[in-house]
Amino acid sequence: MTASLIDGKELARTLRGRIADEVTRMGAEHDVVPGLAAVLVGDDPASKVYVGMKHRDCGEVGIASRMIELPADTSQDDLEDVVAGLNGDDDIDGILVQLPLPDHLDARRIQELIEPAKDVDALNPYTAGRLAIGDPTFLSCTPYGVLELLAHAGVDTVGAHVVVIGRSNLVGRPLSNMLTLKGRDATVTLAHSRTRDLAAVCRTADVVVAAVGRQALVTADMVRPGATVIDVGTNRADDGSLVGDVDFDAVAEVAGAITPVPGGVGPMTRTMLLQNTLEAARRRRGLV
Ligand code: NAP
Repeated sequence: MTASLIDGKELARTLRGRIADEVTRMGAEHDVVPGLAAVLVGDDPASKVYVGMKHRDCGEVGIASRMIELPADTSQDDLEDVVAGLNGDDDIDGILVQLPLPDHLDARRIQELIEPAKDVDALNPYTAGRLAIGDPTFLSCTPYGVLELLAHAGVDTVGAHVVVIGRSNLVGRPLSNMLTLKGRDATVTLAHSRTRDLAAVCRTADVVVAAVGRQALVTADMVRPGATVIDVGTNRADDGSLVGDVDFDAVAEVAGAITPVPGGVGPMTRTMLLQNTLEAARRRRGLV
């Protein structure tokens, strides 16, 4: 392997240490404990695992975490009432509603109801709109993690050509918005399933970010020698192991730097949720 490894696990550990210190300081100086509420509707096993991990992460850094588990047949009105209650709960600084929701529930409507000051998952269209016009409130956790990984790897985005593959509202679109804001100043190509000759587009990139959900989509011939490759994708390989969207072994022989899966973007996404919750607590309580 010639590329240097961008270690998301290690960076996440460092950032969590800083968050924990800051939470301790807030408690000591202001008697404030940041609080995160996670709402889980139904029994989706993957969602249960994700919410459980977020709950543990909070405990690790001293953030108070409240898990609200609701049955799969919860009505839209009842879920809206729960969100309204959390909006008005002074102990709660951040609210996340774990997706996907059962089919009968309107997830967009629920996201719209989350108080922007507590929208630590940054999925409320208001939050996304503020980001798009260059006036961000919270940064969406996965793109935020990608930016931190790039900074950690010493990748200067100013003037760089970044190809983001995948245009979801969760990852690709907010990431492309963030990268083109003044200060980051990247030139971004946002690619998707209708992009013509994706390989040729990627070969012109200084940075390739793959956020698709398709194993081995990015192959070595698509990467310019020395380019940085960030793999957001998570897929189950035939043997059950977790793999990304990038053909890691082959691409690592061409790229200058690369993130692994697991141990790249994943731990950073979870860490940026903690960072946003801390930030929400600071802002809501008028602390610096
Ligand atoms: P998504 O909503 O399904 O979006 C996938 C995107 O990929 C779409 O824009 C789609 O294009 C595009 N796409 C599909 N096939 C393509 C192809 N052959 N060539 C180019 N683009 C193609 O997925 P998502 O929620 O953004 O998640 C993407 C991946 O990231 C998943 O594997 C997910 O598990 C992972 N993820 C990981 C983390 C983490 O923390 N590690 C966090 C979030 C997501 P169209 O728009 O044209 O359909």
